[in-house]
Amino acid sequence: MPGLDLTFLGTGTSLGIPVIGCNCAVCTSTDPRDRRSRASVYARSPECAFVIDTGPDFRTQCLREGVVDLDAVIYTHSHTDHIMGLDDLRPFCFLRPSGTVPIYAPPETMRDLERVFRFALDGNHRFAGYLIHEPHIVEEPFMLGGTKLTPLPVPHGKMTVTGYLLSRDDRPLFAYLSDCNGVPGAVRNLIRGVDTLVIDALRRAPHPTHLNLDEAIDIAADLAPNRTLLTHLSHDLGHAETEASLPPGVSIAYDGLRISV
Ligand SMILES: [Zn+2]
Ligand SMILES: [Zn+2]
Ligand SMILES: [Zn+2]
Repeated sequence: MPGLDLTFLGTGTSLGIPVIGCNCAVCTSTDPRDRRSRASVYARSPECAFVIDTGPDFRTQCLREGVVDLDAVIYTHSHTDHIMGLDDLRPFCFLRPSGTVPIYAPPETMRDLERVFRFALDGNHRFAGYLIHEPHIVEEPFMLGGTKLTPLPVPHGKMTVTGYLLSRDDRPLFAYLSDCNGVPGAVRNLIRGVDTLVIDALRRAPHPTHLNLDEAIDIAADLAPNRTLLTHLSHDLGHAETEASLPPGVSIAYDGLRISV
């Protein structure tokens, strides 16, 4: 069975890069890979297209990458840098024959979405043009076309958030852990042998809710995937300079990066 084509819509931390008002070397860099919108990834198989998270840059990300097909939206957690583009799913209701957008989220994330976006998600649909969602609570692995999505519970400060393993034909292709400050043994066992690991690497210094660069590299060394891509970067990490220091097999994702797995 063919694999998946993935496009990194965003690879930055919650502030994005450049940061408003910051004149540091990374925020003023002319390297386009140092311009990072909020973290999100778009996946396409022959049968199905879906996005993981819709942050505040979701509309411009879709326009930039020409995203017009969307069969489902998957959420990792309800921090604003991952959900605030939800209302920009409305055009996909117009584009889709069903007029609806399936939304997959863990229970607590779905509760938060329905609270924050109550005007759209409370089921009343009072006005034409509002988002109409089909809620799906994620508690166990589920299928989107021929792609199996396995939830991966990981610590993110005091929260537990949900990364995802994408597999096809029982082949573990892509593990997405954009926000975490550790990867428990049970999750490592689920993703060991994955082709491509995408993992949080916020900055050089330790952080209470995110992995830093050294921690991400250590986890990549333990799991030994074919390829590791770092994401959710802050302006502490310039692309070219940081990438030059990474071990073989580890590189840095950037906005607009396309890969096949
Ligand atoms: Zn800066
Ligand atoms: Zn977060
Ligand atoms: Zn985040």
